[in-house]
Formats: sequence, structure tokens, C-alpha cells
Amino acid sequence: MRIHSAAALALCLGALTACGGDGGSPPAEGASVPPPTSESTAPQGAVKRDASLQGKVIVIDPGHNGGNGENASKINKQVRIGNGSKACDTTGTATNDGYNEHAFTWDVSKRLAKLLKAKGAEVHLTRSNDTGWGPCITERAALGNRVKADAALSVHADGAPASSHGFHIIQPIAVKGYNSGMVPDSQRLGRALRDAYHEGTGVAYSNYRGKDALDPRNDLGGLNLSRVPKVFIECGNMRNAADAAKMKDAGFRQRIATSLVQGFEVYFRS
Ligand code: ZN
Repeated sequence: MRIHSAAALALCLGALTACGGDGGSPPAEGASVPPPTSESTAPQGAVKRDASLQGKVIVIDPGHNGGNGENASKINKQVRIGNGSKACDTTGTATNDGYNEHAFTWDVSKRLAKLLKAKGAEVHLTRSNDTGWGPCITERAALGNRVKADAALSVHADGAPASSHGFHIIQPIAVKGYNSGMVPDSQRLGRALRDAYHEGTGVAYSNYRGKDALDPRNDLGGLNLSRVPKVFIECGNMRNAADAAKMKDAGFRQRIATSLVQGFEVYFRS
């Protein structure tokens, strides 16, 4: 990651805010190589030497799992989600040519975890591979509670009709006796991640769900049962050709990860 720091700085001249978080790491120990370009980013101040992720506990939840399809009886088991019941987990969606949502969420989550750790965060993933089943949505929420996460993000992609496109953030609605305390911070987290994702990836706001890419819901166990600030992101619609092409591209998935890092930084700075 050091290798491209100089190149990144050069490339970032035209887009200070988009690159600020990504470029946060290069100058960190960079007393040895302060390129002249870093002067031009200096007015951004906090962005350059951002330490907002240092020591933060973050749970990343890659939606679904590669073995869910072969374990229907296990994942279809009903679990309690506070205001009702739901299946333990689901198989997720896929692009029309077979790139699976579970593979996408796993890849993005690993990239994101790596970047967050590099900035000093303690990162926990809700699953350790892309071949098993589950865990149930109850456990996906419980992990964040157990480690007392400062923030949690569940990574998904949608499977809506082909003409629907764009991304959205799913924010929690208070479910009495369960997640009420985390709703205000989750809303703030959701807005920070929305802005960073939109700016960093260029993906449009959803044209089919929510308002300004924010969609509050109370039917998701992962949000109802979380006592720590948490949101979901639906990174795009896998059934839409343009969104799918982006999600299938590894370089774009890296861009997703760097954008989300920036969102977490904004959240923890504020
Ligand atoms: Zn999903």
C-alpha cells in the first residue's frame, strides 16, 4: 500500500475530498517523503493525518454465505428478531450471469477490513470464509453487541427489477426494548457512509428505495437486535446491467472499500 502512495497523491489533486481518506495513510509516517503535492492538501487539515479510526472497534458483516444454498434447512429456521420472526439467513441474489451476492459482500468486506485495520481499527467479521452457512442474523447482530462495537456495517447488494438502479443505506427504526438506544448514532453513521459512498464511487442514489438513498426499516434482525450503531448498505442492484458491471470489477470493489473507510472516518470525527 505504500507503493502507490506517491501515485495516489498525484492522482488525487483534482479530488481532494474523495482522496483525503484514502490518502490518509501515505503521509502518516511520511516525514521522509513529503512530496510538494501534500502542501496543497494541507488546508484540509484533519483529513491528512486522520487518526479517527485508531482503536475503534468495527464489525463488518458480509451478507449471506456461499454455503447457504446447500443448507436450506438450517438457514430457513425461523429466529426471533424482536418484533417478529424471520429466516436465520438467506442465499442472497446474483447478477444475471451468476456473480453471487455472497461473493461480492465477502470480497468487499475483506478489502474494507484490511483498510480499516491499516488505520488502527479493531475489525471483526461476522463470518470467516465464503463457503460455510450463516451465521443467523441474530448472531450477526450479537457479535457487535458482544465486542461492544463502536460501529457496525452489514454489506449487501440488491436484487431488484432490472430498471432499478443505484445504492441505498438501510437505517434502523427503533424497536422498543431492543435497539432504541442506537438509532440516533446509526442515522449519523448512515448519512456519513452514504455521502462517502456516493462521492467516492459515483454510484447514484437508489431510484427505487428510500429517500436520498436512506431507507429506514424495522424488519431486519441485524438492525433490530443491534445495541451498537449499525446500518446496512445495498451497494447497487445486481439485476441492473450498469450496477452489475461495476460490482463485478475488482478495482471498483476496492473503490467501494476506500469510500466506506472515508465514511467511517467522518462518522468518528463528528
Ligand atoms: Zn443481501
